[in-house]
Amino acid sequence: MKPSPALLLYDDCTSVCVFCLTVLQTSGIMNTFIIQKINQEEKTMAQIIDGKQIAANVKAQVRAEVEQLKAQGANPGLAVVLVGNNPASRVYVSNKEKDCAECGFQSYEYALPEETTEEELLALVAKLNADKNVNGILVQLPLPKQICEQTILHAISPAKDVDAFHPENVGRIMIGDYSFLPCTPAGVIEMLDAMQIDISGKHCVVIGRSNIVGKPMAMLLLHRSGTVTICHSRTKDLAEQTRQADILVAAVGKAGFVTADMVKEGAVVIDVGMNRNAEGKLCGDVCYDEVAAKASAITPVPGGVGPMTRAILMRNTLTAAKEQLAD
Ligand code: NAP
Repeated sequence: MKPSPALLLYDDCTSVCVFCLTVLQTSGIMNTFIIQKINQEEKTMAQIIDGKQIAANVKAQVRAEVEQLKAQGANPGLAVVLVGNNPASRVYVSNKEKDCAECGFQSYEYALPEETTEEELLALVAKLNADKNVNGILVQLPLPKQICEQTILHAISPAKDVDAFHPENVGRIMIGDYSFLPCTPAGVIEMLDAMQIDISGKHCVVIGRSNIVGKPMAMLLLHRSGTVTICHSRTKDLAEQTRQADILVAAVGKAGFVTADMVKEGAVVIDVGMNRNAEGKLCGDVCYDEVAAKASAITPVPGGVGPMTRAILMRNTLTAAKEQLAD
C-alpha cells in the first residue's frame, strides 16, 4: 500500500511536530500511528542517569547516620593528605572537605610541600593510623615522583583505608567479603541500583583495567552476576566487544573515545572518564549526544559518576567510623 502524503511528511520529520500531528489528525489517520511515532522517539531518547541527585540521596543517608553517631558522643572524622601543588588535586581535596561538612564529618586536612620525603609522609600516615579521632585516611594521588605511591597506600591501616586501595581490602573485594568498596566502581553500582537496572545475566563490558577503576568495576559487576568482559589497549577489535554490551562502562581517559557505532541499541552506558576537551571543558570518554541517541540510559559528564565517587567516599568513612566505634 502506498503511504499517504501526510504519512510521508510525518516520517520525514525528525520529531513529532505540531504541524505533522495536525495534518495526520485532519487527514483521518489513526492516532495509533502517532503513538507509534512517539514511542519510536522515546526509545531513542536515553534516560539520563542523574549522578548528582543519586549522590545527594547517598549523602543525606550518611548525614542521618553521622548525626546518630554524634548523638552517642562520637565525632567521626576523615583525614585528607595532599602533597604538592597539583591544581586538580587541590580541587578534589577542597571538594572532599565540602562533602565532609555536608555529611557532618570532622575533616582534617594536611597540605604538605612538594619536596616532602617518603619518610615524612610515612610518619604522618603512622600518626593518623594511631589517631582515634581519625576514622578514615585518604592520601590524594598522584604523589610527587620522590614518593612511591604503593609504599604509602600500603602503609595506611586497612581499617581506615576509605579508598579501598590497600592490598588487604583489594583481596577482600576479590572474595566478596569486604567493608569498603573502591569509590568509583561502587558509585557506578549504586547508580545502577538507583535506576533499578538489573545487572544479573547482563553482558557487561568494561573498557579499562586500572587497579582503581577497571579491575574493581569488573569484579563488582561479576559479584552481581553480570557476564563481564574487560577490554584494554591490546584488545583486538574493541568495537566488536563493546557492541555486545548490555551495560558498557568506559574508563579509558580519552575524550570522545566511545562513539555510537561501538554501542548496541538500548545499552546502558556509564561514562567514568574525566577529561578536558580542546576548549578545556570537562568531558567524559563517550561522545555523549550520538551515544545518548542509541542508549537506553547514560551518565552525563559532569554530573554522572564524579559526584557518586565523592558520595561513596563519605559512605566508606561512615562504615570505617562505625566499625572502629564497635571495636
Ligand atoms: P588509567 O589507569 O590510565 O587506565 C586507562 C585504561 O584504559 C587502561 O587499562 C588502558 O589499557 C585503557 N586504554 C587506553 N587506551 C585504550 C584503547 N585505545 N583501547 C582500549 N583501552 C584503552 O586510567 P583510570 O585511572 O582507570 O581512569 C580512567 C578514566 O576515569 C580517566 O579519565 C580518569 O580521570 C577517570 N576517573 C574518573 C573518576 C570519577 O570519579 N569520575 C574516578 C577515577 C578515574 P592498558 O591497561 O592496556 O594500558
